[in-house]
This record gives sequence, C-alpha cells and structure tokens, in this order.
Amino acid sequence: MKKVCKKWMWVYSFLCILGVCLLTACSELVDVDNDPTLPPDASRPIVHKIYPNDMAKNDSVAFNLARGVMLVVHPNASYQLSFDVDSTMPSPELQLFHTFPINGESGRVGYTKVRSLQPKIVGNRYVYSFVCEENKMSIWFTSLGVDGQYFPGRVKNISFTGTGSYSDSLTINLIAVGAIEKTLDGKNVEELASEMLRSFRKKYLGITIDTIHVRYAHEHPTLGNRYPQNKPWVAGVNSEDFFVSELTGWPEDGLRNALSIVLVHSIGENDIMGFSRLFSGILGAGKEGSVVIGENVRKSSGEMEHLSSKNIVMTAVHETGHFFGLRHTSATRRDLNQVVLLDDGSTFSVGDMSNVEDGLTDTPFCKYVLESGLYRQAEEQDVVRGDIYYLKRPNYLAKSAIYSCPDLENIMFPVTVEDDLDVSFTKQQMELVRSSLTIIPH
Ligand SMILES: [Zn+2]
Repeated sequence: MKKVCKKWMWVYSFLCILGVCLLTACSELVDVDNDPTLPPDASRPIVHKIYPNDMAKNDSVAFNLARGVMLVVHPNASYQLSFDVDSTMPSPELQLFHTFPINGESGRVGYTKVRSLQPKIVGNRYVYSFVCEENKMSIWFTSLGVDGQYFPGRVKNISFTGTGSYSDSLTINLIAVGAIEKTLDGKNVEELASEMLRSFRKKYLGITIDTIHVRYAHEHPTLGNRYPQNKPWVAGVNSEDFFVSELTGWPEDGLRNALSIVLVHSIGENDIMGFSRLFSGILGAGKEGSVVIGENVRKSSGEMEHLSSKNIVMTAVHETGHFFGLRHTSATRRDLNQVVLLDDGSTFSVGDMSNVEDGLTDTPFCKYVLESGLYRQAEEQDVVRGDIYYLKRPNYLAKSAIYSCPDLENIMFPVTVEDDLDVSFTKQQMELVRSSLTIIPH
C-alpha cells in the first residue's frame, strides 16, 4: 500500500460522538490494487453521522454520503449500508476511511482508507457489507464515487444496520456525586437504586439487567477528593463537563464496563431532569459515556423543584433509551435544530429536518409536539450540545392538546406530563436497544 502524505487537507468534522472533532490529513492515495482513493471532500465540514439500526429517515446523511458522512462503528460488528438504486447511473463504489486524532490539532482528525466496496444489488437496493476491525468504537468517513468522481446520482432511503456478538446483559453503576438528599418521597440513594433496578427490569424487557451497584464519587479511589461529599453537585456548573465523564469506567472488577448513571443534585440548565448522548456507544470509561440525572430540576424562576424517586428513575429509563439509540417518538424543535460550536465561537447547524420521528412502525407520532412551540426556550440557546435530550414537566401544559398525543404513553415521548402514567417501550424499540447493546463492547 503506497502512502502518500499530501498537503494537509483540513476537513472539519464536528464530531460530536467522540468529542474529537475532526479531520484530516494524510491518506494513501492508491492501494495495492491500484484502486484510486476518493477522499472525503475536504472543502466542506463533515457533520452528519449515522449509527447502526437507526430507522429515522436521515435524509441529510443520504444527501452527503458521497462527499463524506460519519459512520459509528464498533469492533468486530458486521454492518450493511444500503440505499435505493439510481437506475440512471452506474453502480457507485463506497470507500470507507478510518479516522484518528492528530496530536496537537484539536478539532481535526486524519484519515486513512480501510475499504473499497462494490455493492451487491438486492431487489432495488445497493447493499454494501463490511466488518469493522477496529479495537474500539470508531468513526469512519465515507465517500461514494464513480470513475474517481463523487457519485452524482440520488441516494435515497438510506439504511445502516449492524449486528454484534456481545451479550445482551447489562450492569448498572449508579454513581452519586456530592451531597444527595433523600428524594421527595423520602428515599435514600440505596433505596432509589433498588427502585431503579426494579423499573429497568420491568421496562427493558428485551435485555437482561444483571444488577445495580451504587458508588459514591467522594469514595472514588483516585478522583474522590474532587467531589466533596457535602457539596451539592450541579452538572455543567461545578464541572465544565456536563457528563462528568471521568467517573465512568469505575476502576473495580465488575464495574468497569457497566452503564454509568450519574446522579447529581441538579443540572445547570432550566427544566432539565436528565440527559445522555444519542447512541453514546460507550459502556465503561469514555467521554460522554454516562447517563446524567438530577434529583432536582432548576425552574426558570430560579427555584429548585425536588423530584420523587419515580420521576428520577423514569428519567434514567428514558435517557438510557437515548443512550442505546432510541430517538424521541416525536421530535421536538430542539432535536431538529441542533448546532455545534466551532473553535471561533460561531455555530454550525447539524440538525436533520427529515428526522421528525423515529422511523419505527410500532411507535405512534404526534405532530403537535413540533408545532406546539414546546422548548422554545431551548431553541434560543446559543448552542445545543450534541444529542442532549431531556424530559420536562410542563405544568402549564395541563389539559393541553399534548394529552391527545398517541405516543403519550411511550417512554420515549419527549415530555413527562404526568408522573403516574404507565409508560412502556414497544417491541421495535426493545429490538433496537438490544442490537445496540450487543454491538457495544462490555
Ligand atoms: Zn428524551
């Protein structure tokens, strides 16, 4: 394989998944087969990404596939990327590029080609199959070409599926950070954990929840002194990292690859009960590899609302759904209007307006969620950290049209309207969570 280090090409990829941002440098231009390399288009940012088994439309990914999008891939998992045949064009070749951080160049990554794939035609679709041979979760870039040029045809109805061979069992580590009071209904952290385990087992029917451990940040073997036991911890205020990522991958046998649910006093934004990254992809230590929940919600009036154990637990159940790749059944404006912050302080839109619902056929959709102006306040924020979702208790919505949404009783409905609604996942949601879990090393 001939490696040619050409001039640096700066392709920004605001990588939201790995925290790395992105892009590029030196790549081989010709491999052994004399197969010419068609690198991702370095003249534009690479910002759209797709993770396996997401059923949303992802039109932006389809549109940008030829010049470069990000694929989220894991070790030894098998993948298929497919889309409709454009019969006016020859079959395009898909090239895949491994990305890597460049020392001292924050915000940029290098890439090197790992695959050139010809499609199989199945029915009316091009299907590209490959296995990921990385040793950890990685972001691969794409290009799609014909005769050395970016494919000019239409890429429609894109699908990216994956299967892995890890177990479908999950261990939870509930990490209490700083001073945690009893919940509104008088439960301490241990009692809250017991309730959480019961609820996870009741709601996550498609996977096995082994057990739940409880650990206290002030007792962490190396980081404990950063998290005083008597200090109410506000995510995003007491530490810059909203996810308190350094506490993930607790250094103890049986806990290193657990799902880290970080319990804090509150979250430093109004009306947010919890958040996680959509398809975080990391079980164990990793940047933004946690689900974060608060035991209080900061209201816009500045007051704190103390939450019941049920509310806290169901927030954890919902956010864990996002963690394993579930979207809201009905997108909010905040979901669609995502932007990332660039180094120079400006922002860049990365939202995909086609993803108004999750694409699953057994979850209903409520267009009122998008029309209602819900989350207007969130929209005015300068920056939405990628894929952060939250539940909100809109007291002012009592008796509003939201009560007639057909997906109100789904756990991934974006708004909590009543504490005692008996919410659940659907079969397809459980299947998606299960397939994500078996792809993510743990
Ligand atoms: Zn959510």
